[in-house]
Amino acid sequence: MVPPIYQVSTYKQDGVGGLREGYEYSRTANPTRLALEECLAALEGGDRAFAFASGMAAEDCLLRAGCVPGDHVLIPDDAYGGTFRLFARVLAGWGISYRPVRLADPRAVRDALAERPARLLWAETPTNPLLSIADIGALAQLAHEAGALLVVDNTFASPYLQQPLALGADAVVHSTTKYLGGHSDVVGGAVVTAAGVAGAHGPLAEQIAFVQNATGAIAGPFDAWLTLRGVKTLAVRMERHGQNAARVAGMLAAHPAVTEVLYPGLPGHPGHEVAAKQMRGFGGMVSFRLRGGEAAAVAVCGRTRLFTLGESLGGVESLIEHPFRMTHASVTGSPLEVPADLVRLSVGIETAEDLIEDLRQALS
Ligand code: PLP
Repeated sequence: MVPPIYQVSTYKQDGVGGLREGYEYSRTANPTRLALEECLAALEGGDRAFAFASGMAAEDCLLRAGCVPGDHVLIPDDAYGGTFRLFARVLAGWGISYRPVRLADPRAVRDALAERPARLLWAETPTNPLLSIADIGALAQLAHEAGALLVVDNTFASPYLQQPLALGADAVVHSTTKYLGGHSDVVGGAVVTAAGVAGAHGPLAEQIAFVQNATGAIAGPFDAWLTLRGVKTLAVRMERHGQNAARVAGMLAAHPAVTEVLYPGLPGHPGHEVAAKQMRGFGGMVSFRLRGGEAAAVAVCGRTRLFTLGESLGGVESLIEHPFRMTHASVTGSPLEVPADLVRLSVGIETAEDLIEDLRQALS
């Protein structure tokens, strides 16, 4: 019923060159990691999957496998702060340029692609932490017409709520640390590729496998096992996260201390219709802005009792944080800076009434 944890670095060989079941060394392949990779490929409807030590390691490997120095990439103008930092402070120094674009506006994307050819269009939907929505099918068409690949960071939705490859994306990345793992007990990442995708150096999946082995940021066997265990309950967790988040968003939208609630499940959200079209549900992430500004946002984050103040998201226990000073401090001063009056919630699977009561007391 459960793939064992192959806590091994190496495998006995049946004579020189005679690998037993193809296993040679655990950086290259490990049966527990392979079980996770096969599971993730199936969940995303992909051809191949690769499991990494973190979401950032997955992003880095995909970009180094898919791009060459001199390439240009379009990124969301509200990308996850760590993704922006990877482009701005690591890859830019190795000759990969980037441009932030509002991906919710297909015309802006078309203009940017016409202005300068891009190797990749990097999308995130819903985005972290502003919960903006991009139309994956429309982006795939625009990217492919311009000869670019579409990559979607599917961390916030999880494959239960959204399958970007079926909508035309070429590859999906995940921080499996979040909903896929689901229990705040393991850091991991993944890339899933569609069949037959060509990158800058040839078949993208083969290049990812090569770079993953060459650079080595693999998921360890125990981490792969924990993530696999988390995945078993993904569907039921995502249903409950979504139900609770909708209740929380509704309460916040009616609260006098709150000026704006960012949740794609609310009919007034600018991406509501696109989200309803491409997602099975709206997920468990809710952000909101406070009338009292930064000081009020920081104070609320310090006053909750059931929501734990902490970074990350997607676990069964609810989390609260202040993106401006915490998860998104790396974009401060950049075009991606997030509002200082913003609070981000990762709504867990606790009883909705308890979560609402906790937020009410923190807001009062
Ligand atoms: N992508 C998104 C949308 C994220 O929220 C995160 C982490 O918060 C990452 C990627 C990076 O993943 P990790 O923290 O597992 O490296």
